[in-house]
Parts: sequence; C-alpha cells; structure tokens
Amino acid sequence: MPPRPTRPHGLSTIAVHGGSERPPDGPTGDVPVVTPIYQSVNYLQEYGTGEGLRYPRYGNTLNADIVQRRLAQLEGAEAALMLASGMGATACALLALLRPGDHLLASAWIYGGTHRLFTQEFAAMGIDVTLVDPTETRGWRKQLRRETRVIFLESPVNPTCRVLDLRPVSLLTKESGLALVVDSTFASPVNFRPLEHGADVVIQSATKYLCGHHDVLAGAVMGTASYVEEVRQKMMVWGQAPDPFACWLLERGLKTLDVRVQRQNETAMRIATWAATRKEIDRVHYSGLSDHVDHAIAAQQLLGFGGMMAIELAGGGKAADRFIRRLALWTHAPSLGGTESLVCEPRYNSHASLTSEERAQIGIPDGFVRMSVGVENAEDLIADLEQALR
Ligand code: PLP
Repeated sequence: MPPRPTRPHGLSTIAVHGGSERPPDGPTGDVPVVTPIYQSVNYLQEYGTGEGLRYPRYGNTLNADIVQRRLAQLEGAEAALMLASGMGATACALLALLRPGDHLLASAWIYGGTHRLFTQEFAAMGIDVTLVDPTETRGWRKQLRRETRVIFLESPVNPTCRVLDLRPVSLLTKESGLALVVDSTFASPVNFRPLEHGADVVIQSATKYLCGHHDVLAGAVMGTASYVEEVRQKMMVWGQAPDPFACWLLERGLKTLDVRVQRQNETAMRIATWAATRKEIDRVHYSGLSDHVDHAIAAQQLLGFGGMMAIELAGGGKAADRFIRRLALWTHAPSLGGTESLVCEPRYNSHASLTSEERAQIGIPDGFVRMSVGVENAEDLIADLEQALR
C-alpha cells in the first residue's frame, strides 16, 4: 500500500476547509465563501467525449467531490466516498472485497443492521460469514480459512460502548494478506482514526457524528484510491449514492465536527463520573472511567473517550421505562451523535428480536439505557437525569 498522505493542518482546520481549496466560481464570477448547493441531476456534457461526465449516482458531482476530499483528509486516507446511508456504505464496501465463495470473518459485536446484512443477505449470496467474540484474540486466527478475505469489526461497539484492541487483529490481517475493515461510527475521526492503527478501510455512518444534527442520512467509506473506486462502481449499480443536498448538509455539518465532539467528550465524562456515584445505577458503561474494562485500550488507542455511554438501572426494565418517561431534556429516540441528547433502550429497537436472556448474555440486560450525549450544557443534562431517577 502507498504511504498515507500526511495532514498539513489540524483537524478543525481540515473540518472547515479540507477539500475546498479551490471554491467553484459563482454565476457572476464572484467566489462564494461557503460551497453553493448544486442541486442539479445533470450537467452539460462536452461534445464527442465521455470525459467529465457528471451524475449524482456516480458520486462525482461538485458537492460530492468537495465533501469526499474532506472526509479523506479527516481520516488520513487517500480517498473517500460518500454514500446514501451507513448501511449502503457497509454493503458497498464489502461487496467491493468479497465474491460468492469467499469467507468473511466478523466481530459478533456489531450493529443490528450490519448483523442482518452479513447473516442474511451475504449468506444468501454465497458469502460465508463467521462471527467471533472479538475479545478472544486467538478466536480470530482459529476461524481463518483459505477463503477468508476480510476481517470486519466495529469499535467502539454499539450499544455496549466496548472498545476493541486493533493491534492483534491488524497484525493478523497483515500477516495473512486480508483486508481489515473497521466501522468507527461511534468515535468519528476526532476520537479514533483506524487507518493509523493498521486498518485498511474505514466505514462511517455519517448520519451520526459526521453530519451531527440528526437531519441527514449518509454513509462514508475511506481507503486507498483504487479501492474506493471499486466501492464507487458498486455504489453506482446498487443505487447507493447520496443526493447533492445531502452532500452539502454533510459538508456543513463537518465544519463543527471537532468542536462538537470535543464538547460531547467532556460532557459524557462528566455525566459518567456523576452516574457512577448514583445508587439507582448499577453500572456505567463508559471507557473514560478508570475502572472500565477497556479503559487501558481506550486510553492508548482513542483520542477521546466519546459522547456515547450507557447505564444499567438497578431497578431493571421497569425502572428504565419509568426513567425515560420522566426525562424532559433528553429525547427518547434511536440514532446518535447529533446536537440533541438522546436515550434509547436497545430491547425496544436494535435488539428487539432477541430474548431478554439472549440480550443479557451479550451485555445488554433489561434496564440497559444507551445515551448519546449532545451539545447542551452538562449541568442541565445532569439535572434532568437526576430528577428522572428520583
Ligand atoms: N454502523 C453503526 C455502528 C451504526 O450505529 C449504524 C446505525 O445506527 C450504522 C452503521 C448504519 O447507519 P445508517 O443508519 O446511516 O444506515
């Protein structure tokens, strides 16, 4: 693989300016400060050549180009592709690497939609999938086959907020010539840049921290230029490209990515520290706490502990339902990573298809509440949690 480009500026500067070094001229020749929205499906094509053909489904319109260059710089990748959703990104990223007869080795601790994609859709296409406990380092090696092409993992993990150690897995993929694909949606490039830890491909549900305002559905894939071109070919035929307006909204959201995530990191740490003192809460899942099982790995690998956390209420499922109903500032809603603080119980959404016992086995007992910390004032968020616990 070619060496990765070094970053010329700090992350916040890249988040604001990256990829838009030459803003396109406006219709009067004036140069706008922010990128205009080019909400056009088609562009004039030159006569007698296929060169310069632009079309939103090809992922090469002006708004897509700018945001893709910026995403690549933020992750420290050669290239990036924006897609219509995080699921579209995961599907196309892996379809570009796997063929029928190939074997995919994946962490068992993955987002519910990704789990369904692997175990139902890929299996039906003749791509064999094995799920392994990601904390058992030797488990990965034991499950390797001659047909294995890719190792996939998610870190931090949704919804338990566990943090996985990339080192042993990346050593294995390098040694075996496999691709290591990492979904780091929970961290965003502010808190974790998997390419710097041996990953080959990074996937983001841009719906979350990258867009950051709970108003855009989007995904992104980052890697080498030749690989990202393969993903683009899949995106074009599977119809997973984003609309220009979604690209523009993502570019706008990215400008505050670093500022938002730094604030969310700080607030989540304050909330986790407070929650750890409450008798109504049995456990706090936040890797920033020094007694968290993954604290050492998180401190070594992450650049911030993140804005995602979870608590287990001592009173179980009933207490969690009551607690959520009493919240005024926190919104009961799925998704994560935006300006508004959200809570949800995975037993009613992402993990509804499992029994209570099955959920408990994978670390999500009844009473487990996932929390996405927004950008409101920490003291207001804590006061709301406090009154809801009473
Ligand atoms: N990856 C993770 C870790 C997620 O949490 C989600 C959605 O919640 C996805 C991927 C899928 O993203 P999207 O909803 O944008 O398709």
